[in-house]
Parts: sequence; structure tokens; C-alpha cells
Amino acid sequence: MAKKTDICSFCGASEKEAGTMLQGLHGLICHSCAKRANELFDMLDGNDKEPAAELQSPQIKTPQEIKASLDEYVIGQDDAKRVLSVAVYNHYKRLQYQFDKQRKADDVEIEKSNIIIVGETGTGKTLLARTIAKMLNVPFCIADATTLTEAGYVGEDVENILTRLLQAADYNVQAAERGIVFIDEIDKIARKSDNPSITRDVSGEGVQQAMLKLLEGAVVNVPPQGGRKHPEQQMIAINTQNILFISGGAFDGIERHIAARMKAHVIGFKEASSRSGIDKENILRYIQPQDLKRYGLIPELVGRFPVLTSLSPLDKTALIRILTEPKNAITKQYQALFAMDGVELHFDKAALDMVVDKAIEFKLGARGLRSLMETVMTDIMFDLPSKKDCHKVRITAKMVSEKIDKNKDTLSMS
Ligand code: ADP
Repeated sequence: MAKKTDICSFCGASEKEAGTMLQGLHGLICHSCAKRANELFDMLDGNDKEPAAELQSPQIKTPQEIKASLDEYVIGQDDAKRVLSVAVYNHYKRLQYQFDKQRKADDVEIEKSNIIIVGETGTGKTLLARTIAKMLNVPFCIADATTLTEAGYVGEDVENILTRLLQAADYNVQAAERGIVFIDEIDKIARKSDNPSITRDVSGEGVQQAMLKLLEGAVVNVPPQGGRKHPEQQMIAINTQNILFISGGAFDGIERHIAARMKAHVIGFKEASSRSGIDKENILRYIQPQDLKRYGLIPELVGRFPVLTSLSPLDKTALIRILTEPKNAITKQYQALFAMDGVELHFDKAALDMVVDKAIEFKLGARGLRSLMETVMTDIMFDLPSKKDCHKVRITAKMVSEKIDKNKDTLSMS
């Protein structure tokens, strides 16, 4: 065993494992720890700003390829997928354009295509953003707008959003600077009243104002460990110019503003809607930036999100497809787990119908499918590994209704 004095004081590796070490006054440092320390100091000093090679010539997928990748994981929502695919394609083309060495200073400035996705909870907003980040292999983080407050008030500073992105990028500033941030529940920071001057609105308009700084493409000083800024803390400068911001929100009640606007344009909205084929079941699809402003987002913020799209509510057919079709569909995950024990798992169509009916009955939507399936499968998964002679399991509608009815109280409260 290596003597304590022969090991790297940072990682504990012996000279045999780590090779030549550098001797300090009170200990040793190995090559790999010295390299990491060097990278960290470079990052803190801002000396790592040379664009990465892949940024200079990124392999951009076409919008059709991006949509095809989204199709593997997200069911339906075709309109939103098309809009997102184009926005993401343009975003990465814009990066390429910026790093084009031939470009002259007075060339056209291509603006960023930050996106707002409007849709009921559990319709796939986060899933879409997450899938895009995974596909592009860039750092991704989710921030909840409801936890943010204006600087100086109880709650999180907006800079903490970037701390999370930096952490997702393993503190690689270059990678973080071309990552994707998903800001959830953006609707919850809408201005509470029409007159902003009556009371201080620290969790509404104040946060929107603070957020502008991130969206404007400024260099923002970020506390590497999050939390409140304090004077002695070493900050990391992050340029947000190339970070793609995607926001999501349910915007409960915004249909009122959309319908009112449409009514103003089409006198006799009701009759006109039946004649002109307006989809009254899904008014959200007609959303326009001015509806977001009327809802309480400040015009500057709306202006920073040039791409606006909406998701449709998920009907029964969509929920069944979610259970079975995506690449990592819940039923496929169970089948893979069972296959590891040499067991073939089959779900009757009626059983899946029943799961979806229960999700609708308990108003759980797509988000509840997982907990319903767990309720159905837990006992079977508990017993199966002990049954050596079982090679096939079939899940029937009767099994589903028994298990779910037994756990009805917990499920309907989840
Ligand atoms: P939200 O719109 O509230 O952000 P999420 O994207 O978090 O909703 O969806 C919650 C869960 O429901 C996802 O993790 C996924 O399993 C499922 N889900 C929702 N919508 C879809 C969809 N369109 N296709 C596939 N799965 C979906």
C-alpha cells in the first residue's frame, strides 16, 4: 500500500496509479488533478472562450430530421413539433453564421429564436424541450418560474437558472453557453394586476424584468454553487447570447383573451366559428403574442420569445399511443424489465384501455399513466422473480380494474 505521503493530496491516487507527481510544500498533486485545477482557473479567469470545434462547423439536422427524432418520443402535437424543429434548426444555423470567419461586421444580425409553448399541464411541453436537448447533445436544465423572485427578495435569483445549466454542463462554460434552458410555468409570473404601480409585484413583473437580462444575450455573472450572491463569492461569467430558452405554461383562462380577440375580428364569433371551421375545442391553437400580453406578460418579455406555439389536449387515443408507441414507452420499459428475468410480458388491448380510462376518470392525464401502471404491476413484479417456472405474463382488463380499485383513494389524490 502507498504511504500517505506518496499519494495525491487531492484524489488519493498513488504514484503507481497516477504517474509522476508534483511535490508541494505539504503534499503531492497528480497530473490529472493539476490539469483539472488548470481548467477550473482558466474558466474562472474567462480564458476558455475559443469556440469549440463542433461549434464552428456543427452538424445541423434538417427540420424534417429534427421532427422525426421528436416523433420517436413525443406522440401527436404535430404543429408544435414543426414549429420547434424550424426554430431549433434556425438557432443552430445562427450559431454557425456567427462563427463563420468570412462574415463582415455589417452583415445581417440573425436574432435568437427563443420559444414559448402553451398547453395544458401534462401535454408534453417539458418532454419536447428535454427531447430536443437530448437529440442535440447539449446541456439542458429545467427552471421553475414560480420559485424565482426579484433580486433581494425571498426566493431564487434568476441567475440561479444559469447555475443549474452550468451544473448540467459539468461546469464547462463553453458547453453551457450553447445549452437549452426550459423555464416551466412562465404563466405564473404574469402581472397580477393591470396597474403595476399599486403594489410591489416581486414575484410577477419584477421577475419578468429580471429575466430579460438573461434573454437579452448579455454576459451574466453566475454564482457557481447557486444561492444568493455575496461580495466575496467568485462568479462565473456566462454569455447567454447562444443559449436557447424554451418556456412553457398552461396559461389557464387565456382562451378568454383569444376568443375575445377573434370575436373582435369576426363579428358573430359563434356562427362564424361553425362556418369558418374554427376549432372551438382547441382555442389555444389560435394564440398570438398579444394574448400573452393581455394575460400579464410584459411586452419586452413577449418580444424576447419570437416563436410561439401551442399543444393540443391529449385524448384517449393519444394516451393509448403514449403507453405503447414512444421509443421508451412505459409498456416497453416493463417488457424489457421482465425480459431480463426471461419472462414475456403481454398487455391486452382492453387492459390498456382500462388504464387510460382510469387516467381520464381521475383527471391524471399523461402524467398519471406511470403511477397507474406501477399500481397494476407492483405485486406482479414482487412475486415474479421467485417463480422459477413462469415464462409468460398477460395483463388483462380484470387485473387492471382490481388493482386500481384497491388503490383508488391514493391514486385519485396523486
Ligand atoms: P408538461 O406539458 O406539463 O410539461 P410533461 O412534458 O412533463 O408535461 O409530460 C408529463 C409526462 O407525460 C411525460 O414525462 C410523458 O411521460 C407523458 N407525456 C405527456 N405528453 C406526451 C406526449 N405528447 N407524448 C408522449 N408522452 C407524453
